[in-house]
Amino acid sequence: MQIDFYRHSLDQEDIAAAVETLHSLFLTSGPVCQQFEDSFADHVGLRRAVSLNSCTAALHLGFLALGVGPGDEVITTPMTFIASATSIIHTGATPVLADVEPDTGLLSPDAAESAITNKTKAILPVHLYGAMADMKSFSSIADKHGLDILEDSAHCIEGERDGVRPGQLSKGACYSFYATKNLTCGEGGAFGTNDEEVAEKVRLLRQHGMNKEAADRYSGKFKHWDMIELGWKYNLSDINASLLIHQMGRLASLWRQRRDVHTLYTDALGNIPEVAVPPVEGKSAYHLFTVQVPEASRDDLLAYLTDRQVGVAVNYRAIHTLSWFTKRFGYLPEDFPNAYRFGLRTLSLPFYPGLEEEKIHHVAELIRSFFAG
Ligand SMILES: *Cc1c(COP(=O)(O)O)cnc(C)c1O
Repeated sequence: MQIDFYRHSLDQEDIAAAVETLHSLFLTSGPVCQQFEDSFADHVGLRRAVSLNSCTAALHLGFLALGVGPGDEVITTPMTFIASATSIIHTGATPVLADVEPDTGLLSPDAAESAITNKTKAILPVHLYGAMADMKSFSSIADKHGLDILEDSAHCIEGERDGVRPGQLSKGACYSFYATKNLTCGEGGAFGTNDEEVAEKVRLLRQHGMNKEAADRYSGKFKHWDMIELGWKYNLSDINASLLIHQMGRLASLWRQRRDVHTLYTDALGNIPEVAVPPVEGKSAYHLFTVQVPEASRDDLLAYLTDRQVGVAVNYRAIHTLSWFTKRFGYLPEDFPNAYRFGLRTLSLPFYPGLEEEKIHHVAELIRSFFAG
């Protein structure tokens, strides 16, 4: 039985919407992006959403909009995708890593507070696998030290913890619509915020710092545009945005399907003593299904499952152990022992809405027989 790691949930309606855009006047950022932004902001409970071509772009421009730059430090977690840290580096600032909670892999508020120096400008918690970081604690730390917070919400559109959703206790949340994310258009992202000024700044920087975008320039009568900032080329196209419009309406049902898969896996793996499922506080967005297994068996189990046509992944090896980060910052694995261990023990299993119960049991049985030797 072959089991894919991920399968997207685009349907005929999404595809028809993209085809309709291909027959329309605008292919680049236009009315569909605008419609998407309004509707997405509604869905995530924030005042504004700015569409972008990736979450990496959202992080980069979010930091620039907060004035983060050379000489500044931003605190984040080593247990994340590299973009959380590289977006900080691209502003000219320095990422300062702080360790994670050993059981959840989420950035520890205590560790983050201990990493604050007089150069610290912001904190970037990451909502790992869909589980929200402790935003209440981060928010009080940020208030106490006069810092800003951005959130890497690439895994977390639907999450909630302590009555708070991503972006509601910070300057903004950065979302990804990359090929394997919960809401996808192949490549895409968004910056969500309750701060109008930050939203406007991100909007300006996404398109070369031009004071008029293509849609504004097309208004019948020619109007000159001006360049008022040094910006980037990070806008989303209407073609991509078309795939998101109807899919957004299915977010709740897709979430329920992933929750059910998560429950089935948790039950099926429950009596294998070598396997632990990271606990979740609050409502998870259920982006990935990861387990923790003994360090010494992780890579063998990866190979065992791959050989048996089961798609697997590692999210993530702690980023401070990757070559470029080691060389650039001189990190040792034990500098962040919890993240290091977590990264050696983690393994992601096939996970997507509608993954059949039969396949979930098959994966669980394979893992059981692997540990039975
Ligand atoms: C996918 C991902 C990103 C980057 O998203 P892109 O849209 O590919 O730029 C950033 N952070 C995390 C945690 C991710 O999983």
